[in-house]
Amino acid sequence: MSHCHATLPSLVGLLFSLHPQLSTPLLACLPARLHTSGMSDVPPAIELRDVSATYVERGRRLPVLERISLAVAPGEFVAIVGPSGSGKSTLLDVIAGLIEPDAGSVAINGADLPAASRLGRSAYLRQRDLLMPWRNVQANAAVALEAHGVPRREARSRALDRLREFELDGFAHAYPAQLSGGMRQRVAFVRTMLTDAPILLLDEPFAALDALTRSDLHRWLQDVLPGGQRTVLLVTHDVEEALLLADRVLVVSPRPAQVVAEERIAFTRPRRRSLTLAPEFLAAKAHLLIHLGSAASA
Ligand code: ADP
Ligand code: MG
Repeated sequence: MSHCHATLPSLVGLLFSLHPQLSTPLLACLPARLHTSGMSDVPPAIELRDVSATYVERGRRLPVLERISLAVAPGEFVAIVGPSGSGKSTLLDVIAGLIEPDAGSVAINGADLPAASRLGRSAYLRQRDLLMPWRNVQANAAVALEAHGVPRREARSRALDRLREFELDGFAHAYPAQLSGGMRQRVAFVRTMLTDAPILLLDEPFAALDALTRSDLHRWLQDVLPGGQRTVLLVTHDVEEALLLADRVLVVSPRPAQVVAEERIAFTRPRRRSLTLAPEFLAAKAHLLIHLGSAASA
């Protein structure tokens, strides 16, 4: 099933006519093979095959994922956009090993793993992860290392070493209440990234921030996360954010979530805010919004 649109709406058509060098749409519609990374023989870092998951609450079954398949290549940055309540957080919970699906398989680096063995294979920044108000930045950053069994003193000293790399030196002894929302979120990122797990799962990490802070964090994330070293799966409802950060964007349908469209994003990096005004960017954005619109009305 392909969700490509043969004709793009007038906005995109106008952009292409104004910019003849864009006579070939930048983001070619891809054929029905919507969900695979299509890269080399190296096994995907993450591969879901026909995964279904259902919540049961007071005897009622709520199907949240239905035979969803997707693959993320090692070092690839994939963004998932989709309507609220479609099952995106559940999808990340499944990959992280917090939920065992009813059906289907989840492979990490080519090996099918049950949920218990997936735990700890990825660093996961959950949607409502908060910093501990009673711990300073250094101690908050060290939490994930401590959870991985690193002794407290060593965890804190390693955290301190890394704060500079993440542009947070000078704040090691500050408490969350003394930081701006953007700084707090940076610390939450660092806490997640410090374990050096090669897979990073990010669930709407910028959603609660104002636009300027969000934009600042997009720049920061691109600077501290050099391309290709980590496999990243980012859930967002912000199409612009997906286009600024990802190598590939997947659009999911309303619950039960299925992948309904895929776009490869080829803009050179680093991608700065000014890119959002470029005709190519606007065309890509319009294209994704069409997919998202048809997903929402499906
Ligand atoms: P998204 O992240 O796309 O907004 P979620 O994965 O959080 O979606 O949730 C998908 C659906 O599953 C929603 O309708 C939500 O209310 C429901 N849901 C999420 N978690 C649970 C749970 N623990 N028990 C029952 N229903 C849940
Ligand atoms: Mg969610």
